[in-house]
Amino acid sequence: MQENGRILSVILDKVKHQAKPGVSTLELADFAHEEILRAGALPAFLGYRDFPGVICSSLNEEVVHGIPSSSRVLQSGDLLKLDIGIKRNGFYADMAETLFLGATPPNEINHLLQITKMALLAGIRNLLPGNTLGKVSQSIQEVIETGGLSVVRRIVGHGVGRRLHEKPPVPNFGTPEEGPRLKAGMVLAIEPIATYGDPEIAIKQDGWTAITTTGALSAHFEHTVAITPQGPRILTSTCQAG
Ligand code: MG
Repeated sequence: MQENGRILSVILDKVKHQAKPGVSTLELADFAHEEILRAGALPAFLGYRDFPGVICSSLNEEVVHGIPSSSRVLQSGDLLKLDIGIKRNGFYADMAETLFLGATPPNEINHLLQITKMALLAGIRNLLPGNTLGKVSQSIQEVIETGGLSVVRRIVGHGVGRRLHEKPPVPNFGTPEEGPRLKAGMVLAIEPIATYGDPEIAIKQDGWTAITTTGALSAHFEHTVAITPQGPRILTSTCQAG
């Protein structure tokens, strides 16, 4: 799973570099598909519960599960969420990042990105054997709400392994009394999603794309992380300790 995570992080990085104004989200997905196959992997999302895309590409008020399309052409100023999953040698890896298309993001977007990223890292720091899962959830919620943002509660993280989505679900809100105790050997996909204001979401006509009901922007960052006796190890990273 560590090797898969490293491969996925390299692929996501390459896809990010293709994401420029004038490029469609379908072109990004096609590029990702080539890279995934070249790495000896398969795209995890394609066909998952009949999802029609190779990756999820969600723009601006779209929260998650955006379907790549030739008619969605990236523009300067867009906030793009890229979520990619791969399967290789029987195991899955799952990762997401949000990027601003343009030189310098406006303060509001910069804040959204920084807080959501910090929430992910706070959650990861608490992936310690013996901690409750609720402690992880609470640490994520605390960063997001202290930052003046709201947790999109209807989308949660999950266990990941021989299946893309395994138990336990990992809510991005909660209390330390809740949830199972973490153990070394567990692998979890931690994926906070934050927005401004009301965090309620709706699903678009395509049956997949989740959007904020207010039209507010949202950000999403995700890592696949293994819990080791020494603490968390981010698998979806290019710089891994041996
Ligand atoms: Mg996930």
